[in-house]
Amino acid sequence: MNTRDMILDLSYTFGNTEQHIFPVILLGKRDVVLVDCGYPGSLFMIEEQLRRHNIEPSALTKLVLTHQDDDHMGAAAELKEKYPAVQVLASHTEALYISGRRKNLRLQQGETLQHQLPDEQKAFGEQFCERYRNLRPVLPDILLHDADRFDWGGGCEILATPGHTPGHIAIRSLDNEYMITGDAAVLVENELAIANPEFCLDLTAAKNSLEKIIQFQCRHYICYHGGILER
Ligand SMILES: [Zn+2]
Repeated sequence: MNTRDMILDLSYTFGNTEQHIFPVILLGKRDVVLVDCGYPGSLFMIEEQLRRHNIEPSALTKLVLTHQDDDHMGAAAELKEKYPAVQVLASHTEALYISGRRKNLRLQQGETLQHQLPDEQKAFGEQFCERYRNLRPVLPDILLHDADRFDWGGGCEILATPGHTPGHIAIRSLDNEYMITGDAAVLVENELAIANPEFCLDLTAAKNSLEKIIQFQCRHYICYHGGILER
């Protein structure tokens, strides 16, 4: 299997910078699974990228959300609206926030930090919070647990990787061919690292999770931010 064939490349322009993020497609016996789905408004890009991989968007059966951040779950509500048969999956803990039953933790963090921001950053901080207030919740259909196994992508398992958010998950292929890291690891200069450690909700847990996924020594680490690390 070629891991490059598994990833969608979504690109966004923020001011002068271009950001790429990499949702993943996993095929199972009965399932076509998308792992994470980009910022709000990304559905058209996802559809375009799926077709580029010869997958009709209507063939999607499942959307796995690694966690509640808006670059990962942003387009979930619009996707579910257009393709209601798609089942959304997330860990029990993340589901509380993804569904809107509890206030998004990144929004809580943003609101807390807002008071401490220097004046010149307050507008950015307010924009950030507003983005999260407008984030549309989606009700997960299936709750995931650590060590849950599926036949997707040749056989894989869910790994609890808390830290970045409390219920964050990664996905490991059972033969260690690939690890989908979500934000448990980002790829920076060809090294796996902790995503935005300063905004990590639990840095100690995040370090342990990073250690845990590195220990599997997978052949490919597919990082949502940074792309593929090949070993
Ligand atoms: Zn992210």
